[in-house]
Amino acid sequence: MNTGSAFLYFDNNATTEVDPEVLEEMLPYLTTWYGNPSSSYRFGKRVADALETARERVAALIGSLPQEIIFTSCGTEATNAAIHAALSVDPDRQHIVTTRVEHSATLKTCEGLARKGYEVTWLGVDEKGQLDISELESSIREDTAMVTVMWANNETGTRFPMDAIRKVVRERGVFFHTDAVQVVGKLPVNVADGSVQFLSLSGHKLHCPKGVGALFVNRRTRFTSFLTGGGQENSRRAGTENVASIVGLGKACEIAGRKLEVDGKQVSALRDTFERLLMASVGGIEINGDLQNRLGNTSNVSFENVDGEALLMVLDKAGLCCSAGSACTSGAISGSHVLKAMGFSEERSRRSLRFSFSRMNTEVEIAEGVRIVASAVEKIRSAGRMQ
Ligand SMILES: *Cc1c(COP(=O)(O)O)cnc(C)c1O
Repeated sequence: MNTGSAFLYFDNNATTEVDPEVLEEMLPYLTTWYGNPSSSYRFGKRVADALETARERVAALIGSLPQEIIFTSCGTEATNAAIHAALSVDPDRQHIVTTRVEHSATLKTCEGLARKGYEVTWLGVDEKGQLDISELESSIREDTAMVTVMWANNETGTRFPMDAIRKVVRERGVFFHTDAVQVVGKLPVNVADGSVQFLSLSGHKLHCPKGVGALFVNRRTRFTSFLTGGGQENSRRAGTENVASIVGLGKACEIAGRKLEVDGKQVSALRDTFERLLMASVGGIEINGDLQNRLGNTSNVSFENVDGEALLMVLDKAGLCCSAGSACTSGAISGSHVLKAMGFSEERSRRSLRFSFSRMNTEVEIAEGVRIVASAVEKIRSAGRMQ
């Protein structure tokens, strides 16, 4: 990775390093080709063409048509837009089904809707963070406007049974949105069968810069724009496009598609090595999540007799980046809502950390990281014993 020797970056579910190939593809659109893609002269048209190439590349990665891709400012906006659109179709439907372990983009949006009078069913998860598909099925009602369920969890890596979920929502004929931010670029995604109406993705989780995302909307699904204004994105998302970043997202998707299988194997091998070495050198640890159905890059670990915040601080001093809970909620006093939903006590949640890897990490970094974690844990535990 690009951080020299200063940092070991094991927090790839929070954000990722920009791929140099992505940056290279973007630069001409920050220098030479700065035209507005909506302008009618050739200088603008050239930029508009670049947007369409990017749209084709994003579509190719998820098996959609290019016209089913709407560029947004981030994954959060894509999710907000999807929920807004789904609820706009039939105002008589005021019931939403989601889970307790969603990213705050979905969680806070649904909480806000609940305050406005929508009824929200919050599906629970078991101790592995796994969903009960029959509970999902029985939660869908006549007045259900939509089901919004993430594909894989950003904190534990637990993957939901997406095939089964898609089968249920299709049979019941309700709108389905999935937050696939942690999955796109890591696992094969294909929305061609029509069972998914909306899918959110985000550039900065797949080696593109921050500030760009995309929403897939099935071509047969009625869509009401979340941002209104100009006619950009075929009148589905107003506002002059973040051209360079969209070009970058296209490139990141093209690279991800090309490297998906090889990277997937390489990254999960790194993660498995990390966990194996960690278990061998640190006692009293537990790996959290559904170990049989988990993203290959994510490791969520509970350390006995170690306060997570204290451990984070020691690791930070040693230059190791990882996180407690999700990046968006860390710093908060309470532990992770995901681990709590899994039935973990506040105390166990607070001694759990997430390590997440990417193709930019190396075997050497893993070995070094494990040494750092082991010595940090030992330091905190022995300080605890002296008290
Ligand atoms: C990061 C993340 C988001 C938010 O994406 P942004 O582009 O940062 O808004 C949403 N869902 C999940 C699962 C994430 O990991």
